[in-house]
Amino acid sequence: MINIALDGLSGSGKGALADGLAKKLNLIHLDTGAIFRGIACGFLDLGFTDPTNEEIENNINSINVSVKIEDGKQLVYLNSENITPNLRKEEVSKLSSKVSIHSVVREKYLQIVNTFANNYDCIIDGRDITSIVLPNADCKIYLTADENVRAKRRYDENVAKNIPCTYKEVLENLKERDYRDTHRDIAPLIIVPDAFIVDNSNLSIDETIDICYKYIASKLGLEV
Ligand code: C5P
Repeated sequence: MINIALDGLSGSGKGALADGLAKKLNLIHLDTGAIFRGIACGFLDLGFTDPTNEEIENNINSINVSVKIEDGKQLVYLNSENITPNLRKEEVSKLSSKVSIHSVVREKYLQIVNTFANNYDCIIDGRDITSIVLPNADCKIYLTADENVRAKRRYDENVAKNIPCTYKEVLENLKERDYRDTHRDIAPLIIVPDAFIVDNSNLSIDETIDICYKYIASKLGLEV
């Protein structure tokens, strides 16, 4: 079983890198941020835009999120509804990071992600993959980039998908999430000692994929 762990800050390009590596290495890509986004959609559906701790604990069990791979694409379902198109909205981004600090939410997430890791040769991206989910992964990558570069990428992505936002709003949201993701008590984003660190502020996605592929090939003894 091959497991590749990929962590990094919001907008560092984890999704595009994981997709590219999954294609080259014939792996399934699991984007774990989408699970938290799905859970956030569940709270929004129940009418909670900023749930309290108590509201999170009392309602988490009625939020039924599942992940399916269909035609090679990851889809997220809330109950039986495919909510994948809603996941990138700014209000969902914001709430996903807020709910992700809660242990009841992380327990639910770990059940989904562990089932996945045990059943597929996969590359999994998120914030706690190299540290908590796959501490014994064959390869561990930490991806980072300058915050203005990351905000511009997210802004361009939103514009391309017709998601209404301003650059300022995206940058503020990103800074707030960076802080929360790296400072929370449970499963914060950290750089583990055996991570391969890539700063792609000045790299294209193809260059980033090439660099990471070479690292993986050397770890797994593959031909470059
Ligand atoms: O990666 P993405 O931006 O889609 O993740 C949304 C939010 O989910 C992050 O801001 C983070 O708070 C949370 N997350 C997490 N652990 C993961 C993946 C995402 O806490 N493994």
